[in-house]
Amino acid sequence: MNEASVYQQLRGHLATLRLAAAAEALPAELESARQEDLSHTAFLEKLLAVEVEAVLTRRQNSLARFACLPSPWRLDDFDFDAQPSVDRKLVQELATLRFLEDATNVLLVGPPGVGKTMLAVGLGWAAVEAGYRVHYTTAAELAAKCHRAALEGRWSTAMRFYAGARLLIVDEVGYLPLAGEAGAALFQVVTQRYLKGSICLTTNLGISSWGRIFEDPMVAAAMLDRLLHRSVVFNIDGESYRMRAHRARAEKMLGKGPNHGR
Ligand code: ADP
Ligand code: MG
Repeated sequence: MNEASVYQQLRGHLATLRLAAAAEALPAELESARQEDLSHTAFLEKLLAVEVEAVLTRRQNSLARFACLPSPWRLDDFDFDAQPSVDRKLVQELATLRFLEDATNVLLVGPPGVGKTMLAVGLGWAAVEAGYRVHYTTAAELAAKCHRAALEGRWSTAMRFYAGARLLIVDEVGYLPLAGEAGAALFQVVTQRYLKGSICLTTNLGISSWGRIFEDPMVAAAMLDRLLHRSVVFNIDGESYRMRAHRARAEKMLGKGPNHGR
């Protein structure tokens, strides 16, 4: 067989094996192998590395899409000095993602604006970048999705979906009441993930007042029990980060700035 038809066959093999990136890189890699006088082993390694790179990028993009994280913030963007009630060491420990190994939950409790969502999203990105399946939702969205699923006879599919991710982030528990079906949905999600997969949950409600948003205080108690059994809890207090920035700007304008002080 001559060189040209071997080349055609090789292209055919790459197409059959769906190694599109390697196929595309083939002419350039062959040329550089000739010029650099590479061994067969070295050439093959370089060609396959191109494909591996493409596969990893695709996988990473698909994990990022699936995660639905609402902002780009990473844990490194969090200003710990501005929020002394957040234990920096503990966040750094969580960033190692060991907590995912034993399905530990992370609860972020505190008033609006103190960085609960930012920390949850930062943990989410850390897990995505380490190759874990992550999914972000708000409690309201979870309730709405489960409601639609119930109407369409897809309840168990929805439950399987929320069991799937290695880390499930449930943001903003407590802003809306979780009565009836909505409470049942969150309860079932928590129950089926219990000791199997981590939940990172944020809430503006002190843990003792959880009974209020659920119709049934027993459901609230059972859910808390499961969430807390193996968990890390952050009680974040202090002022809203946004309000701080606001106030700093306002103070500057109102005469504490360089040209106004008198
Ligand atoms: P919460 O979810 O507790 O209501 P967010 O996480 O949405 O608060 O934070 C409100 C805003 O303030 C966001 O834009 C967030 O990026 C910013 N923010 C809050 N805390 C910090 C912090 N410690 N360092 C940097 N940005 C912060
Ligand atoms: Mg929030």
